[in-house]
This record gives sequence, C-alpha cells and structure tokens, in this order.
Amino acid sequence: MRIIRNAALRGREGRWDVAIEEERIAAVETKVDAAAELELDAEGRLLVPAFVNAHMHFDKCMLGDVMRPNESQTLPEAIQITWDHKRNYTPEEIADRAAPVVELGIVHGTTAFRAFADVDTIGGTVPVQGLLELRKRFEGQVLMEVVAFPQEGIVRDPGCAELLSECMDLGADVVGGLPWYERTDRDMWEHIDICFELAIRTGKDIHMLVDDTDDPNSRSLEYLAVKTLEEGYEGRVTASHCGALGAYDHTYAEKVMTMVAEAGISVSSNTQISLVMDGRNDRGLVRRGTTRVKELLAAGVNVLSAQDDVNDPYYPFGKSDQLEVGQYTAHVAQLTYPSELETVFDMITVNAARAMRIDGYGIEPGNRADLVLIEAPSVREALRLIPPRRAVFHRGDLVAESFLESRRHPR
Ligand SMILES: [Zn+2]
Repeated sequence: MRIIRNAALRGREGRWDVAIEEERIAAVETKVDAAAELELDAEGRLLVPAFVNAHMHFDKCMLGDVMRPNESQTLPEAIQITWDHKRNYTPEEIADRAAPVVELGIVHGTTAFRAFADVDTIGGTVPVQGLLELRKRFEGQVLMEVVAFPQEGIVRDPGCAELLSECMDLGADVVGGLPWYERTDRDMWEHIDICFELAIRTGKDIHMLVDDTDDPNSRSLEYLAVKTLEEGYEGRVTASHCGALGAYDHTYAEKVMTMVAEAGISVSSNTQISLVMDGRNDRGLVRRGTTRVKELLAAGVNVLSAQDDVNDPYYPFGKSDQLEVGQYTAHVAQLTYPSELETVFDMITVNAARAMRIDGYGIEPGNRADLVLIEAPSVREALRLIPPRRAVFHRGDLVAESFLESRRHPR
C-alpha cells in the first residue's frame, strides 16, 4: 500500500489521506490507519486526478528543432515544410522525436493522451506506425490513444479512405477527421459519412478537427451533430476547435450549440494554437479564434482544452503542460472567477477524461490511482503559479517527482 497524507482535495474541506492498493485508490479518508511501503506527506498540497491531454500531434512535435526556416512566415509554407518532413518520416524517427514530449508531459502530471497521426497519401501509414511505436514504448506509464487523422482531407486526397481503414487495422484507437478542409459542403458531408462508416465498422470513437477557422461559412459542426444523432453515437464524438462557431451569427450558433449538446459531442478548445493561427488578417482588434467556450458550457456541452502542438511548423511553443493550457484557456475564454477556475480545471481533467471515455477516473475509492500532487494548495494557486508537480502516479506507480528549488540572495 502507498499513502499520500494530508492532501487538499477539490470539493472537500480539510486535509485527506489517499491510500493506493495495486493500481487503484483503496481509501480516501481524513486519517488512514495503516502501514504503507511508501508514505508521502502532502503538507496541504493539492492532489488531483492526473491531467488528460486529448489532442496532441505527436508525429509533428519538435520538428521546430530540425526544420528549415519559414522564409515567407506563412501558413502555406508551414504546410510545405511539414510535407517535406512527412515524405521522409520513419516510425522510429517519429517515436524518437515524440518521446521527450511524452516524458515532459508525465513530469507535468499528464498520464493520458490522444495522439494524432497524419494519414494521407504523402506519408501513408508511417505516422500511425510511429505513434503505435510510441504507445508501445510508454505502455504501463501512460494511457495513449492513437488517432488516425486525415490531415489532407479524405475526398480531396484520393486513396486516403483506404489508408484510414488500413490504419485502424494496424491498431489505431480512434477515427479522426477534418471535414471543414474539403473543397465543398457536399465533400464535407461525404467526409463525415466516411468517418462514421469506418468508426461503426471498427467499433471506435471519433475525434475530428471541426471548422478550425474564423470563417463563418465553415459549417461542418452542424452536420456532425446531425450524423451523431442519426447513428446513435452520442457521447462518442469529440470536435476540436470549432472556431467558426464563434464567428456565426448568434441565432445560427445557438441552433448548432443546442444540437451539439443533444448529440453529446465533446468540444475541445485548444486555445494556444487558435490564438496564433486565427484572425491573421484582422487589423486593430484581432479575434481570438476560439470557440464559444462559455456558451457551450452553459448549453451543457462537455468542453475540454488540449495542447495540440509542441514546437512544430505551426507553433513554436508548448511544454506539454496541461496547467499552462488551462491558464491560457482561462485568459482567452475569460474564465477568471473562482467557480470559473474550477471549470477550467475540469477542462484539463474530468471533462477531457469524459471525452476519452476513461473509466475509473477521479479521486474516489475503487478508481484508478492516476494522481498528481501539485506544489500549490488550491486550484487558483495551481493555475496562477503553474508550479512543479511534486509527485505523479500512474496506475498506482510513482512515475515522476519534481521539486521547487530557488535560491534567493538578498543584499
Ligand atoms: Zn490539432
């Protein structure tokens, strides 16, 4: 047995002992009277379920270190640079490049990831093979789901549908999608239909990048909701970005949000990438590019927030830290009051876990012991300071520790 003593827990007064037996939480009590082979005195630090990053392009991460400079500083050149690398990927190179980012995530308390791998006629199945290799390397240390993601579209990239099917056979866990990137609305609907056909045939969930643009003419979320309801896929579909929803007129936006709630679609707002990619042609007040986070929450939609990118041709930052993601989201979605900070924290923990349908998540007896002890006493202080994660547990094992050490030399 392992015991974390004197921890602060969300939604409970006072200090608590959390006992771990094998890979599960055995007890959550004010005082656990038992001997343990490992005891950790939390001294009032905040203990939360391990963070969940449900959207991360591990096949592209860290390309920033090896790519040629983006001379024109434009998105088309970023895409060209990505293609150049994608033509030469090997599964081992992808796994080698991504592994340190997974490591960093673990140190920062994230032990569940949805890893997106491009599937297209440029790189074929190699990115998926790379992330399957990555998943294997971290088996038992994190929960990793591989998403087969049609980065170049499906209808506009003939051969991609077959590659997607092949990737699911290879062992991918989730069917991805990028419907808004198709050339016409008709192709966008066909794209969504193909994804559902594949997901239903393989019994897998769906996670699409939806309307990732500030253009209000991008309307794939509406059809995604309709299709989800028609196929009885409620609770099994996640839509990332949905930036265009923010640009729709309010009447249409309300109609779509009602359908999204009804269809049980989770929405992931990946605020950091939206901030740098959207509103690029705006002058003066520049739009944030994020979806209607507060309105979706008010409509009862499960809203989460994810990292998306780390040091790649699209985004030069990212430290694989869901607390940083949460702090950005708090700024961008203007969630700053005490109850709203709790909501932000839900977006990087319980809501993200719900989107991935992780069972046994949360600090309750019987649940999996995926835990993070944060060097802060409260949710607000955790989001304010983004401090070290004192201890990280995955399935009951202590997988990482960090310590705050600063030296001040006063005069
Ligand atoms: Zn993405």
